[in-house]
Amino acid sequence: MRPIKNVFANWLPQSPMGRIGWAAFLSAVLLAWADLRLAVIPLGGFALLCAAAASVPSSSFFLPVISRGTSGRKAVALTFDDGPDPLTTPALLRLLKEHRVSGTFFVTGHRVVRYPELARDIVAQGHSLGNHSFRHDMLGAFRSTTTLRQEIRAAQRALKDLGIVALAYRPPMGITSPRLQRVICEEGMFVVNFSCRAWDGGNRRLRNLSGRILKRVRDGDILLLHENLPRPSLLPGWVGEVDRILQGIREKGLEVLPLADMIGRPVMAAAAERDGRSGGGNGEPSARIGPGAYAPRSTHPDEP
Ligand SMILES: [Zn+2]
Repeated sequence: MRPIKNVFANWLPQSPMGRIGWAAFLSAVLLAWADLRLAVIPLGGFALLCAAAASVPSSSFFLPVISRGTSGRKAVALTFDDGPDPLTTPALLRLLKEHRVSGTFFVTGHRVVRYPELARDIVAQGHSLGNHSFRHDMLGAFRSTTTLRQEIRAAQRALKDLGIVALAYRPPMGITSPRLQRVICEEGMFVVNFSCRAWDGGNRRLRNLSGRILKRVRDGDILLLHENLPRPSLLPGWVGEVDRILQGIREKGLEVLPLADMIGRPVMAAAAERDGRSGGGNGEPSARIGPGAYAPRSTHPDEP
């Protein structure tokens, strides 16, 4: 017979949302005995809490979310969202190579389908790819479980065509929801958000981007930067800002570590190994794809 403590633990919802939701529901039932109108208080409070939690990217209210490193080192991890892009990705890869640092690119599936050679270049140069949904639907977190599943799976398929299985998922805008947990579990993934950003609005607010990041950054941070640009003419200014960020991080005595090293788990795997066509075949990610695993298959212009 299982100990009563374990039975109770299994019965309790695992997420803070589930536990607080139950507490709010029970409170509402009890208060309704006294006065039905009082039941609104815990239920309304719970609804407000859910809305607030959805807008906090580091919140693990609905499901476990990784937003900071656990390496214990004086280090940060770089993440770049919303690519790949023929204008910015080659310039960014050159810059990261000059600084001898690696980053994680949370790419959208539709851009991977459109620019597969850029996605291959990213991996070939020692960086990692993560899943940032297929279409980057701003309201994705509020869609049905079916739509969420389609978005994440479609992006996984686009990456799988390159031989990659992303293990890390970053929701558009960093917004999480209760429905995400089920899909993430089905796909064997985990959610990675961020702890330091410049509120750049997808690089629409480029002015002093480096100053805003460097003012906030501290060890353990996962930095959020974007690699899309609203206008091609902004490219030199954006590259300069990212260059100053990388210099500033070093001057603060911080290392730049790969995301996988910062969080102590791989963020992507080789599709063949994941499928069990080689290796252990247990469906678990057994290896990270290292630099040189994918040779660039084509060259592409720096300008679109
Ligand atoms: Zn995004």
